[in-house]
Amino acid sequence: MARLLDQIKGHATVIQNLLEMNAKFRLHPVLLFIGPSGVGKKKVALGLAQALVCEKTPNACGICGPCLRIEKNSSESLKLLQPQGAQIKIEQTRELQDWLSLRALGKARVVILDDADKLNVQAANSLLKTLEEPGENVFFILIAQSQNSLLTTIRSRAQTVRFGALGPEDLQSLTGAPAWAVISSQGQLNRLSSLLTPEYETFRKSWLEVFMSIQESDKRSWAFTQVKELASDRETALQMVSLWQQFVRDISFMSVGLEPIIHADRMNGFKEFSHLSGECISELNQCALQAERDLNGNIDRGIVLENLWWQSQKSMARSRHDNG
Ligand SMILES: [Zn+2]
Repeated sequence: MARLLDQIKGHATVIQNLLEMNAKFRLHPVLLFIGPSGVGKKKVALGLAQALVCEKTPNACGICGPCLRIEKNSSESLKLLQPQGAQIKIEQTRELQDWLSLRALGKARVVILDDADKLNVQAANSLLKTLEEPGENVFFILIAQSQNSLLTTIRSRAQTVRFGALGPEDLQSLTGAPAWAVISSQGQLNRLSSLLTPEYETFRKSWLEVFMSIQESDKRSWAFTQVKELASDRETALQMVSLWQQFVRDISFMSVGLEPIIHADRMNGFKEFSHLSGECISELNQCALQAERDLNGNIDRGIVLENLWWQSQKSMARSRHDNG
């Protein structure tokens, strides 16, 4: 048994405001939760649903029957609509309206539309009247990543609640995750958990080995084979470039004794680079920035990553030569 709002990381102010409005019976019947994916908007929506249906308190108790049934996804007072395939379809909104036309059993009824920007035009239009007048004790919570992706007619009927990305310090203290994962997650909890899997750890380790191999010119064909194996799609290639930028940043921080080191667990490996000149580090940085530009310019990911290795290796070789 649980009060879902207690399980949410961050968003304390947003939650507090929603609960205050609920306690004063001033909660807008159509709420629009806007914010980046993976920050917990749906969890807050379910937690607020508990607060709305709870028999004991407007803050949700987490242990009464209605609260428990929300948690167990078996509530007669909650409808959760999610895209079937790519869209939320009119069949789904019709079914929803049938449900709303039935007599209410609990204190309130809550409709959560996850990915509300996936409402197709027909489905959205069929909902307009319902959103205008949801009916007594009926609450809609629409969830989307940006306002612009929603029809103006839907938007204008809702009160917007904004969710920010979680800050690195929040994330670190909430999850205890290592710094490199927190930074790579860009404030998104679901991305953070995918970074903490054993699979991702293997991936990061392999890519770091490729990075380390720029010290040796005879590793070229091995490195290129690794690139092919690791860069399974564009999204992954972007992650690889971002990790590479972090590796270079860590080396530059270490060379002048700055903290924090993002990949602190790999510091021993980075020490091999401690002899590098500022000029060489700056070149490595340029190579990594260029790779990011190239990927965003839709150049083939294999070519971009091979080039990243090759140019970085050449900088290293030049630096070694200059140092005699
Ligand atoms: Zn309760």
